[in-house]
Amino acid sequence: MNYRHIYHAGNFADVFKHLLLTRALNHFNKKNKPYMVLDTHGGIGKYDLDSELAGKTEEFTQGISRLVEQTNSPAFVQPYIESVKQLNDDNQLRFYPGSPWLIQALMRADDRLIVCELHQQDAVTLKQTLRPLSGSKKLEVLAPQDGYQAVSAKLPPAEKRGLVVIDPPFEQVDEFDRVIEALTQGLRRWQSGSYALWYPIKDPVKIANFHRDVTTIAGIPKTLVIELMIRSPDECAGLNGCGFVWVNPPFGLVNELDEILAYISPLLAQSEGAESHYRWLVEES
Ligand code: SAM
Repeated sequence: MNYRHIYHAGNFADVFKHLLLTRALNHFNKKNKPYMVLDTHGGIGKYDLDSELAGKTEEFTQGISRLVEQTNSPAFVQPYIESVKQLNDDNQLRFYPGSPWLIQALMRADDRLIVCELHQQDAVTLKQTLRPLSGSKKLEVLAPQDGYQAVSAKLPPAEKRGLVVIDPPFEQVDEFDRVIEALTQGLRRWQSGSYALWYPIKDPVKIANFHRDVTTIAGIPKTLVIELMIRSPDECAGLNGCGFVWVNPPFGLVNELDEILAYISPLLAQSEGAESHYRWLVEES
């Protein structure tokens, strides 16, 4: 396991992922009933952008830096920006929140977060980062732990409402297959759950195959694809964009996607081929 998220913390892909996650939780919070979030690939929870490793790539300068520099950000960005600001003093951008940090910041006292991390060292850091919060929040940190196994072990949740976030590093050649298998297992146990599967867009053929495989899962409920391209897909062999396959997306999130994508797409663009879109991969039956 070579992947360390510190090199990419706060980059365009994190902004896309984390903004949509904060919006989803905002819509979950509109109902009184508690929910559970399972974050299968948690990372370390909080990232020091001044660290040597983050400084090697400085990817955040083309991600979160661009967002926090805006003076008149729309209301839908505020919960995300506020969570970033709460980690920092005096409008500095030194610390960046990872997905478990953002989730715990937005969830309410009765909501529950289960977070997994497999990397030995990152598992220790994640536990240390989240420990001070465990008195006030319902947190279960499973680390080191294979997040894919937690999908089978932890679903369905007692709350009967919630979100499974699957955000792997995609360093293994079979990672898309593992995501498909995890979703299949998850849906067998919990058909009404919301599942947000993040993926990098490098090779368009792999993405087309992934989408096809999602549609062939037995009984797959309504599923949305949301994608952000920061340059055209054929411009280079690297990370040209990223997306979510989102099974049972919150209704309120779907309704505001036009606005969200219209805002972040030009802001995060790195060349003229940049664009964003969403479409139903599986329509409601
Ligand atoms: N979700 C995090 C966030 O948004 O802040 C970032 C996660 S990063 C893209 C992927 C993480 O998954 C890495 O920290 C990696 O060590 C971890 N990982 C890799 N394989 C895993 C597995 N099978 N189960 C759990 N974690 C895994």
